[in-house]
Amino acid sequence: MGEFELIRTYFKPLADRANRDQLPLGPGDDCAIQRLEPGHDLAFSVDTLVEGVHFPVGYEPEKLGWRALAVAVSDLAAMGAEPACFTLALTLPDADAGWLAGFASGLSRAGQAFGIALAGGDTTRGPLTISVQVHGLVARSAEIRRSGARSGDFVCVSGTLGAAGAALDYLPEPAPGPDQLAVLSRYHFPEPRLALGQSLVGLASAAIDISDGLLADLTHLLEASGVGADIDVEKVPLMPELVVLKGDDARRLALTSGDDYELCVTMAPKIYEALCEDVRRELTVIGVITPEPGLRLAGCVPDAAPGYDHFGRLA
Ligand code: ADP
Ligand code: MG
Repeated sequence: MGEFELIRTYFKPLADRANRDQLPLGPGDDCAIQRLEPGHDLAFSVDTLVEGVHFPVGYEPEKLGWRALAVAVSDLAAMGAEPACFTLALTLPDADAGWLAGFASGLSRAGQAFGIALAGGDTTRGPLTISVQVHGLVARSAEIRRSGARSGDFVCVSGTLGAAGAALDYLPEPAPGPDQLAVLSRYHFPEPRLALGQSLVGLASAAIDISDGLLADLTHLLEASGVGADIDVEKVPLMPELVVLKGDDARRLALTSGDDYELCVTMAPKIYEALCEDVRRELTVIGVITPEPGLRLAGCVPDAAPGYDHFGRLA
């Protein structure tokens, strides 16, 4: 199968369902064309997944397709942007039809779930590597940045943390029980908090998505904002199945392991109190922003390692 037949067969169908008002030109030309809405800014971000680094060697292609798009879209969620389209740079050791069908199917399901269409890409031969660039739209100057946290703001997280990190202990999956399946599905099928991010535009003072672990990512937000935080580690929400499997180690995972793709957001207490019930239910307050820089942990603090950093520095 040649490069262009491969693109036509597996990836063109994902582009064909694009909204032509937003994406007048998809794959097939030298560039794709995205129409920008007046009064909006373009938010864009790229993420690369390398086999053996970001996912296990031999990882199921269908899951990889979902994950590759989900981790990229999560950055749009963190800014409060609405997904528009994405490009896919795919490096493959060979053109295996079964693998490509699985990957395209996972990617397609994720694209439908997140409301984002394929606009184009690049296909090359080499060690399995997937780069996804996502484009989203935000009302002009309304994006939620990392740099807006202010002293006195609450620090909140969405969902629960730590399960995706624990899942690595159960891969590959020989015969997992229900608790293992629950944590594994958090690793395989992360669900970027798009609706939550968009509903916090104009309300949250800062946000970041948790890809490398709460402590590491919150530290990035604090540094960008020039503030610090007091965090009660016992307030960090845990999935019941994670506690069953990991006991006391669950909290360490929730603080330091990555891959959950939940949001960490800050907002003034008054704004938090006035949130509508649906939005508030998705968030847990775990601490407060302080004027002194640094991250201080209270409660039963586990012997925590810092978040993952590709070059081995302390994150
Ligand atoms: P160019 O030579 O202009 O860089 P390519 O030959 O790499 O273009 O690609 C031809 C067309 O196919 C382009 O429109 C590109 O966006 C699209 N394309 C290439 N690979 C993919 C892919 N994996 N998914 C979707 N579209 C792709
Ligand atoms: Mg060209």
